[in-house]
Amino acid sequence: MAKPVPANLLQEQLAYYRARAGEYDESVLRTGRFAGPGLPEVDAEWQHLIDAVRALPPCESALELACGTGIWTAKLLNIAETILALDGAAEMLEVNRAKVGSPRVTYQHVDLFHWQPASTYDLVLAGFWLSHVPPGLLPAHIEQVAKAVRPGGRLFFADEPAGGRQLSGPVEGEFKQTRSVHDGSSYRIVKVYHDPDALAAQLKPLGFAEVQIWRGDYFFYLDARRTV
Ligand code: SAM
Repeated sequence: MAKPVPANLLQEQLAYYRARAGEYDESVLRTGRFAGPGLPEVDAEWQHLIDAVRALPPCESALELACGTGIWTAKLLNIAETILALDGAAEMLEVNRAKVGSPRVTYQHVDLFHWQPASTYDLVLAGFWLSHVPPGLLPAHIEQVAKAVRPGGRLFFADEPAGGRQLSGPVEGEFKQTRSVHDGSSYRIVKVYHDPDALAAQLKPLGFAEVQIWRGDYFFYLDARRTV
Protein backbone atom coordinates (compact mmCIF):
# COMPACT_ATOMS: atom_id res chain seq x y z
CA MET A 1 0.00 0.00 0.00
CA ALA A 2 1.54 3.33 -1.10
CA LYS A 3 2.00 5.91 1.66
CA PRO A 4 -0.32 8.94 1.61
CA VAL A 5 1.04 12.15 0.10
CA PRO A 6 1.98 14.58 2.91
CA ALA A 7 -0.04 17.79 2.92
CA ASN A 8 1.53 20.58 0.85
CA LEU A 9 4.27 18.36 -0.62
CA LEU A 10 2.98 18.84 -4.16
CA GLN A 11 2.71 22.62 -3.64
CA GLU A 12 6.23 22.69 -2.21
CA GLN A 13 7.49 20.70 -5.18
CA LEU A 14 5.94 23.22 -7.54
CA ALA A 15 7.41 26.10 -5.53
CA TYR A 16 10.83 24.46 -5.93
CA TYR A 17 10.51 24.31 -9.72
CA ARG A 18 9.17 27.87 -9.86
CA ALA A 19 12.22 29.04 -7.91
CA ARG A 20 14.55 26.89 -10.00
CA ALA A 21 13.23 27.90 -13.44
CA GLY A 22 15.91 30.55 -14.01
CA GLU A 23 18.78 28.23 -13.13
CA TYR A 24 17.38 24.89 -14.34
CA ASP A 25 19.22 24.80 -17.66
CA GLU A 26 22.50 25.87 -16.07
CA SER A 27 22.25 23.11 -13.48
CA VAL A 28 21.15 20.37 -15.90
CA LEU A 29 23.50 21.37 -18.71
CA ARG A 30 26.34 22.41 -16.33
CA THR A 31 26.78 25.93 -17.64
CA GLY A 32 26.96 29.41 -16.05
CA ARG A 33 26.80 29.22 -12.25
CA PHE A 34 26.95 25.44 -12.44
CA ALA A 35 29.74 25.14 -15.02
CA GLY A 36 32.08 22.23 -14.48
CA PRO A 37 33.19 18.93 -15.89
CA GLY A 38 30.69 16.13 -15.79
CA LEU A 39 31.07 12.39 -15.99
CA PRO A 40 31.63 11.17 -19.55
CA GLU A 41 29.36 8.17 -18.93
CA VAL A 42 26.51 10.48 -17.85
CA ASP A 43 27.03 12.66 -20.93
CA ALA A 44 26.99 9.56 -23.15
CA GLU A 45 23.69 8.36 -21.65
CA TRP A 46 22.18 11.85 -21.94
CA GLN A 47 23.17 11.89 -25.62
CA HIS A 48 21.52 8.47 -26.00
CA LEU A 49 18.24 9.93 -24.73
CA ILE A 50 18.51 12.85 -27.12
CA ASP A 51 19.21 10.50 -30.03
CA ALA A 52 16.19 8.36 -29.09
CA VAL A 53 13.88 11.39 -29.08
CA ARG A 54 15.35 12.61 -32.38
CA ALA A 55 14.69 9.17 -33.90
CA LEU A 56 10.96 9.21 -33.08
CA PRO A 57 8.82 9.10 -36.23
CA PRO A 58 7.60 12.48 -37.51
CA CYS A 59 3.99 13.22 -36.56
CA GLU A 60 1.29 15.88 -36.62
CA SER A 61 0.62 16.51 -32.95
CA ALA A 62 2.58 16.13 -29.74
CA LEU A 63 1.69 16.74 -26.12
CA GLU A 64 4.52 17.43 -23.72
CA LEU A 65 3.87 16.97 -20.01
CA ALA A 66 5.86 19.07 -17.53
CA CYS A 67 7.75 20.73 -20.38
CA GLY A 68 9.98 22.80 -18.08
CA THR A 69 12.47 25.08 -19.79
CA GLY A 70 12.10 23.39 -23.17
CA ILE A 71 15.04 20.99 -23.31
CA TRP A 72 12.70 18.40 -24.92
CA THR A 73 10.28 20.91 -26.48
CA ALA A 74 13.09 22.09 -28.75
CA LYS A 75 13.76 18.51 -29.86
CA LEU A 76 10.04 17.85 -30.40
CA LEU A 77 9.89 20.73 -32.86
CA ASN A 78 11.87 18.56 -35.27
CA ILE A 79 9.34 15.74 -34.95
CA ALA A 80 5.85 17.20 -34.50
CA GLU A 81 4.02 19.82 -36.55
CA THR A 82 2.30 21.18 -33.45
CA ILE A 83 3.09 20.83 -29.75
CA LEU A 84 0.95 21.48 -26.72
CA ALA A 85 3.37 22.03 -23.83
CA LEU A 86 2.02 21.85 -20.26
CA ASP A 87 3.66 22.83 -17.02
CA GLY A 88 2.49 23.86 -13.56
CA ALA A 89 5.17 26.55 -13.13
CA ALA A 90 4.50 29.79 -15.00
CA GLU A 91 8.22 30.63 -14.65
CA MET A 92 9.16 27.42 -16.50
CA LEU A 93 6.71 28.22 -19.28
CA GLU A 94 8.19 31.73 -19.60
CA VAL A 95 11.73 30.38 -19.98
CA ASN A 96 10.52 27.79 -22.47
CA ARG A 97 8.62 30.36 -24.55
CA ALA A 98 11.58 32.76 -24.58
CA LYS A 99 13.99 30.01 -25.60
CA VAL A 100 11.96 27.89 -28.00
CA GLY A 101 9.78 30.71 -29.34
CA SER A 102 7.86 28.90 -32.05
CA PRO A 103 4.31 29.56 -33.30
CA ARG A 104 4.00 25.78 -33.53
CA VAL A 105 4.10 25.46 -29.73
CA THR A 106 1.10 26.29 -27.56
CA TYR A 107 1.67 26.61 -23.83
CA GLN A 108 -0.75 25.85 -21.04
CA HIS A 109 -0.26 26.48 -17.34
CA VAL A 110 -1.67 23.26 -15.89
CA ASP A 111 -1.43 21.40 -12.60
CA LEU A 112 -0.99 17.85 -13.85
CA PHE A 113 -2.46 16.44 -10.63
CA HIS A 114 -5.77 18.10 -11.59
CA TRP A 115 -5.69 17.51 -15.33
CA GLN A 116 -7.61 15.51 -17.86
CA PRO A 117 -6.61 15.40 -21.51
CA ALA A 118 -9.00 17.36 -23.72
CA SER A 119 -7.83 15.66 -26.91
CA THR A 120 -5.63 12.86 -28.22
CA TYR A 121 -2.16 13.22 -29.72
CA ASP A 122 0.16 11.26 -31.99
CA LEU A 123 2.93 11.51 -29.42
CA VAL A 124 2.88 12.19 -25.69
CA LEU A 125 6.28 12.85 -24.11
CA ALA A 126 7.21 13.35 -20.48
CA GLY A 127 10.85 14.01 -19.63
CA PHE A 128 11.85 13.58 -15.99
CA TRP A 129 8.28 14.03 -14.80
CA LEU A 130 7.09 10.61 -13.64
CA SER A 131 9.73 10.56 -10.90
CA HIS A 132 7.89 13.51 -9.33
CA VAL A 133 4.51 11.76 -9.14
CA PRO A 134 3.82 10.21 -5.72
CA PRO A 135 3.40 6.40 -5.93
CA GLY A 136 -0.18 6.59 -4.64
CA LEU A 137 -1.17 8.91 -7.49
CA LEU A 138 0.77 7.14 -10.24
CA PRO A 139 -1.80 4.56 -11.48
CA ALA A 140 -4.52 7.20 -11.95
CA HIS A 141 -2.03 9.59 -13.53
CA ILE A 142 -0.78 6.97 -15.98
CA GLU A 143 -4.39 6.28 -16.96
CA GLN A 144 -4.94 9.97 -17.74
CA VAL A 145 -1.71 10.14 -19.71
CA ALA A 146 -2.62 6.99 -21.66
CA LYS A 147 -5.97 8.53 -22.63
CA ALA A 148 -4.10 11.39 -24.31
CA VAL A 149 -2.45 9.02 -26.83
CA ARG A 150 -4.49 8.30 -29.95
CA PRO A 151 -4.75 4.65 -31.03
CA GLY A 152 -1.57 4.01 -33.05
CA GLY A 153 0.19 6.88 -31.27
CA ARG A 154 3.20 6.76 -28.95
CA LEU A 155 4.10 7.52 -25.41
CA PHE A 156 7.68 8.38 -24.52
CA PHE A 157 8.97 8.65 -20.94
CA ALA A 158 12.54 9.53 -20.02
CA ASP A 159 13.67 9.45 -16.40
CA GLU A 160 16.08 7.97 -13.86
CA PRO A 161 15.91 4.21 -13.18
CA ALA A 162 15.43 2.29 -9.95
CA GLY A 163 18.61 0.42 -9.09
CA GLY A 164 20.72 2.89 -11.08
CA ARG A 165 23.42 5.35 -10.03
CA GLN A 166 20.88 7.87 -8.65
CA LEU A 167 22.29 11.04 -10.16
CA SER A 168 19.71 13.05 -8.21
CA GLY A 169 20.77 11.52 -4.90
CA PRO A 170 19.08 9.08 -2.53
CA VAL A 171 15.43 9.31 -1.57
CA GLU A 172 14.36 10.05 1.99
CA GLY A 173 11.78 7.58 3.23
CA GLU A 174 9.82 6.09 0.37
CA PHE A 175 9.57 8.95 -2.11
CA LYS A 176 10.92 12.31 -0.96
CA GLN A 177 14.01 14.44 -1.36
CA THR A 178 15.09 17.82 -0.04
CA ARG A 179 16.47 20.06 -2.78
CA SER A 180 18.01 23.55 -2.67
CA VAL A 181 18.21 26.31 -5.23
CA HIS A 182 21.17 28.62 -5.76
CA ASP A 183 20.00 31.19 -3.17
CA GLY A 184 20.11 28.47 -0.51
CA SER A 185 16.36 28.04 0.04
CA SER A 186 15.33 24.42 0.31
CA TYR A 187 12.19 22.50 -0.58
CA ARG A 188 10.80 18.99 -0.17
CA ILE A 189 9.92 17.30 -3.42
CA VAL A 190 8.71 13.89 -4.58
CA LYS A 191 11.33 11.59 -6.09
CA VAL A 192 10.74 8.03 -7.22
CA TYR A 193 13.29 6.05 -9.21
CA HIS A 194 11.20 3.90 -11.54
CA ASP A 195 11.61 0.40 -12.86
CA PRO A 196 10.69 0.87 -16.53
CA ASP A 197 9.47 -2.75 -16.74
CA ALA A 198 6.93 -1.98 -14.00
CA LEU A 199 5.78 1.08 -15.96
CA ALA A 200 5.42 -1.08 -19.08
CA ALA A 201 3.32 -3.57 -17.08
CA GLN A 202 1.00 -0.71 -16.05
CA LEU A 203 0.71 0.44 -19.66
CA LYS A 204 -0.05 -2.96 -21.18
CA PRO A 205 -3.69 -3.22 -20.00
CA LEU A 206 -4.20 0.36 -21.21
CA GLY A 207 -3.56 -0.69 -24.81
CA PHE A 208 0.23 -0.28 -25.05
CA ALA A 209 1.25 -3.72 -26.24
CA GLU A 210 4.45 -2.64 -28.01
CA VAL A 211 7.02 -1.23 -25.61
CA GLN A 212 10.71 -0.59 -26.13
CA ILE A 213 12.83 0.09 -23.07
CA TRP A 214 16.40 1.29 -22.83
CA ARG A 215 17.91 1.32 -19.37
CA GLY A 216 21.27 2.85 -18.56
CA ASP A 217 22.94 3.39 -15.19
CA TYR A 218 21.67 6.97 -14.95
CA PHE A 219 18.72 7.28 -17.30
CA PHE A 220 16.10 5.17 -19.02
CA TYR A 221 13.53 5.67 -21.68
CA LEU A 222 10.33 3.87 -22.45
CA ASP A 223 8.83 4.17 -25.93
CA ALA A 224 5.36 2.60 -26.08
CA ARG A 225 2.91 2.35 -28.97
CA ARG A 226 -0.81 2.29 -28.33
CA THR A 227 -2.10 -0.58 -30.41
CA VAL A 228 -5.83 -0.32 -29.54
N1 SAM B 1 10.55 17.99 -18.73
C1 SAM B 1 11.50 18.99 -18.36
C2 SAM B 1 12.90 18.48 -18.58
O1 SAM B 1 13.10 17.24 -18.66
O2 SAM B 1 13.82 19.31 -18.61
C3 SAM B 1 11.32 19.46 -16.91
C4 SAM B 1 11.44 18.36 -15.88
S1 SAM B 1 11.55 18.99 -14.23
C5 SAM B 1 12.45 17.69 -13.46
C6 SAM B 1 9.92 18.76 -13.59
C7 SAM B 1 8.89 19.72 -14.16
O3 SAM B 1 7.62 19.41 -13.57
C8 SAM B 1 9.14 21.19 -13.87
O4 SAM B 1 9.10 21.92 -15.07
C9 SAM B 1 7.99 21.58 -12.95
O5 SAM B 1 7.60 22.92 -13.08
C10 SAM B 1 6.92 20.61 -13.37
N2 SAM B 1 5.89 20.40 -12.36
C11 SAM B 1 6.05 20.17 -11.04
N3 SAM B 1 4.86 20.00 -10.45
C12 SAM B 1 3.91 20.10 -11.42
C13 SAM B 1 2.51 20.00 -11.44
N4 SAM B 1 1.82 19.75 -10.33
N5 SAM B 1 1.87 20.15 -12.61
C14 SAM B 1 2.57 20.41 -13.75
N6 SAM B 1 3.91 20.50 -13.81
C15 SAM B 1 4.58 20.36 -12.64
